[in-house]
Amino acid sequence: MMQLGLDGMPPRLFACTPSRLTTWQDCPRRYRFTYLDRPAPPRGPAWAHTTVGAVAHLALARWWDLPLERRTGPAARALLDRAWQTDGFQDDAQAHRWKGYAGDMVERYADGLDPTQDPVGVERTAAFRTAVLAVSGRVDRVDRRGDELVVVDYKTGRSELTTDDARGSLALALYALACERTLRRDCTRVELHHLPTGKVLAWDHTQQSLQRHVGRAEVVASEVRAATEELATGGSAQELFPPRPSSRCGWCDFARQCPEGLAASGGVKKPWAGLAQERTGPDPD
Ligand code: SF4
Repeated sequence: MMQLGLDGMPPRLFACTPSRLTTWQDCPRRYRFTYLDRPAPPRGPAWAHTTVGAVAHLALARWWDLPLERRTGPAARALLDRAWQTDGFQDDAQAHRWKGYAGDMVERYADGLDPTQDPVGVERTAAFRTAVLAVSGRVDRVDRRGDELVVVDYKTGRSELTTDDARGSLALALYALACERTLRRDCTRVELHHLPTGKVLAWDHTQQSLQRHVGRAEVVASEVRAATEELATGGSAQELFPPRPSSRCGWCDFARQCPEGLAASGGVKKPWAGLAQERTGPDPD
């Protein structure tokens, strides 16, 4: 039976993307900076590794718009070249080197795709509701394999991934449920496609494991809602949205506004520093 709020009305749903929920889990202060403070605090400059990720995603999305006979590896590289940006790079020479690296990456990946297997969705928005949440998000690619759908998420960072990354990802689990509800077909498999290595890290959820993720998401939503409501009635931003400093703070867009984060990370990273990270850098997408 649906629970009613104090005023006898059904409680409002907490509308969110998976990224909104994971931002709170990572750092409540960053959540406040990103979603609540208006005007929002200034962010740092663009990251070069984010540029690489964004352009690779765009090229692979547009690849499926090409006529079947033009869906080749070199065509993916050409799409990347056309969409290339230089935001965050140290200089033109570095940007040029990385254009080549990213071109190799998408060409190799597209060469391994079956161009006849059109996905059910590319950059597909999907959504679902629970008694607490209204979740929506955009999925890189939704494949159909047999009678089931598969969530495909591209990763372009150089950090190695494991199956645990696919299994434990709240975002991927919520995407699977969103695809199932929006596209009305079973969807329990989630896959991380790591473009630099070509590895696919997959996990087959059960309905129980998906529901466990929903339970986590609902807990996060209630924490966020409680903190936000208390802030609106005069609560302390510092106490309700505490910083969660770690060595990763050097990659935070708001590190310049956050003394605790700066102290923990030894300073803000250069915008191109993520390009050289082998294992400890941020995920660009
Ligand atoms: S620098 Fe670190 S502690 Fe500060 S807001 Fe960013 S993630 Fe949170």
